Amino acid sequence: MTEPLVASLERRAQSDHWVYHDGELRRYGDTHVGLLTHALHYGTGCFEGIRAYWSAQQGRLNVFRMPDHFERMRGNARMLHMELPHPVDELCALTVEILRRNAFTSDVYVRPLVYKANEEIGIRFHDLRDGFMIVTVPFGAYVDTTAGIRCQVSSWRRIEDNVAPARSKSTGIYVNSALAKTEACLNGFDEAIVLTHDGNVSEGSAENIFLLRRGCLITPPVTENIVEGITRSTLITLARDELGIEVVEREIGRSELYVADEVILCGTGAEVSPVIEIDNRAVGDRTPGRVTRQLQELYFGVCRGQDARYASWLTPVV
Ligand code: PMP
Repeated sequence: MTEPLVASLERRAQSDHWVYHDGELRRYGDTHVGLLTHALHYGTGCFEGIRAYWSAQQGRLNVFRMPDHFERMRGNARMLHMELPHPVDELCALTVEILRRNAFTSDVYVRPLVYKANEEIGIRFHDLRDGFMIVTVPFGAYVDTTAGIRCQVSSWRRIEDNVAPARSKSTGIYVNSALAKTEACLNGFDEAIVLTHDGNVSEGSAENIFLLRRGCLITPPVTENIVEGITRSTLITLARDELGIEVVEREIGRSELYVADEVILCGTGAEVSPVIEIDNRAVGDRTPGRVTRQLQELYFGVCRGQDARYASWLTPVV
């Protein structure tokens, strides 16, 4: 069957991209993993998601909080009996080299993955070889950050830390996220909000959550089976230091979602996304709220290299 020209051109472009795989810089199209790869069958991997923002003004990409992402990945890998093949500074330098070679002039998503690479049957983590890759892809908005999104409280509960380490970004755990996201989308919503087994608010399918109530930002603590988000920590800093807003980390009951003045989902992919409706109830006046817009402006200013105060969060690709 002949495929559309555009699709084949895009695929050729992707196959030409530089990636890092098992110690070598190669073209995407020249690297392969085998059918029996352990992680593909058993979810025995863990990944990161990092964004690099194109600055037209500076004529370069800037990678956002890259050392923090690789530090988190190092800890997550340890939980799963894996080890990153290089120290954090070398991983950052490698990523810069890949991005430099790929010469993208738009925003990019960087996907490092460490995984059990043996091609064999048998469930375990120990006595298996670690594979490692870094792949980069041009990437725009993951969800609509302007008009706001409509969410549904999921019927799926967030994975419990004693079932599998919830904060670990291990690939297998994302079955939980995918079920919640798909349920929400098939029901006509944009995103899912997932509760813990105890019924408290945990997070989105791939985002942390903030509520604004009576001028105070509230977010679940790291013990609520969340991923310890880097965007979450960024927004906590920006809210406290730039807007002078109090941020409280505490348990959030489901019905607090329905009386919040503003709700934000945030993550590397989702960035700062205003939630305008939850379970068919308006959040505020069904438009992005004032604090949400202020945080968005600050966040994008920092990411795009327009805020010198936070330049240390950016790694330039030069
Ligand atoms: N929760 C989950 C389940 C996620 O996958 C992500 C995205 N990594 C986040 C929260 C947000 O984390 P970060 O801000 O570090 O991207």
